[in-house]
Amino acid sequence: MVILRCRFITINLAPIRPSHFQSHKILHTTRFFRTPNLISTPRITSSSLPTTRSISDEARFARSVRFIPPGVEIEELTDDMVLPGSNIVIGPFAGHSQIKQVEFVKSSARARDCPKDDLPEIAILGRSNVGKSSLINCLVRKKEVALTSKKPGKTQLINHFLVNKSWYIVDLPGYGFAKVSDAAKTDWSAFTKGYFLNRDTLVCVLLLIDASVPPQKIDLDCANWLGRNNVPLTFVFTKCDKMKAAKGKRPDENIKAFQQIIRENFKQHPPWILTSSVSGLGRDELLLHMSQLRNYWDQ
Ligand code: GDP
Repeated sequence: MVILRCRFITINLAPIRPSHFQSHKILHTTRFFRTPNLISTPRITSSSLPTTRSISDEARFARSVRFIPPGVEIEELTDDMVLPGSNIVIGPFAGHSQIKQVEFVKSSARARDCPKDDLPEIAILGRSNVGKSSLINCLVRKKEVALTSKKPGKTQLINHFLVNKSWYIVDLPGYGFAKVSDAAKTDWSAFTKGYFLNRDTLVCVLLLIDASVPPQKIDLDCANWLGRNNVPLTFVFTKCDKMKAAKGKRPDENIKAFQQIIRENFKQHPPWILTSSVSGLGRDELLLHMSQLRNYWDQ
């Protein structure tokens, strides 16, 4: 299981070396489908292709930059299978994605206090002020759903929201409060890391990245930590409507810079998607992506 999770993330925190792409090991995709609980494996990576197969430059490029879910053969890939504003290919596991019903279930102080009903969950994480509450409210189309305490030093909790009575959105405490004490920072670390490392029903983490500011070390540290620990993640760029930056670079330049750094640290680029809670950009696409992750995990 751990090995397969690694394959999904295909993280390698060392700089990419050509050898990563040259050593193609055979890994039959059917194996993924028989393995429940492993949404961490859907990515068909360069290492999953038989050595004998010759692929076009285009396919090679697609393979290195796109998120290709199970059930999609790289040779069959067409542009209309890629979600607009993302590198995410939609495959046969994508399904019903709209949120009809959402209810707050509980706030937990530790991973072991979280709901124990084995439903799949997708956690949402990001720096304070990244737009996490706005995104959650936009996804569920309700105001004031996200309950995370925003005040530094206050108890930070894991909030579970049951969606369509079948899966959870999990609102995790924001990190990187400017005024937080070192002690509170340590608390965040221990507490949230415990959740990531112990939560078996965690399908994926949506790591929110503010597109209106240049890449932040704290976000990269967080991404690298998740990568090193084989936690499946999707980068969700927020505030993409802010096409004119008040100061500094524009969101598209910030995103490009962030992706460049990720490319240097990750063997394969994790899924990413552009969103705006103001304009609704990326909302339906993100929900569809979440549905394919969940459905694959759930089969
Ligand atoms: P949180 O601390 O991560 O929960 O962030 P919030 O959702 O409270 O948002 C922080 C600030 O960013 C607020 O002033 C929001 O109005 C603003 N914001 C959030 N999402 C967007 C967005 O998509 N576009 C723009 N322009 N502003 C946003």
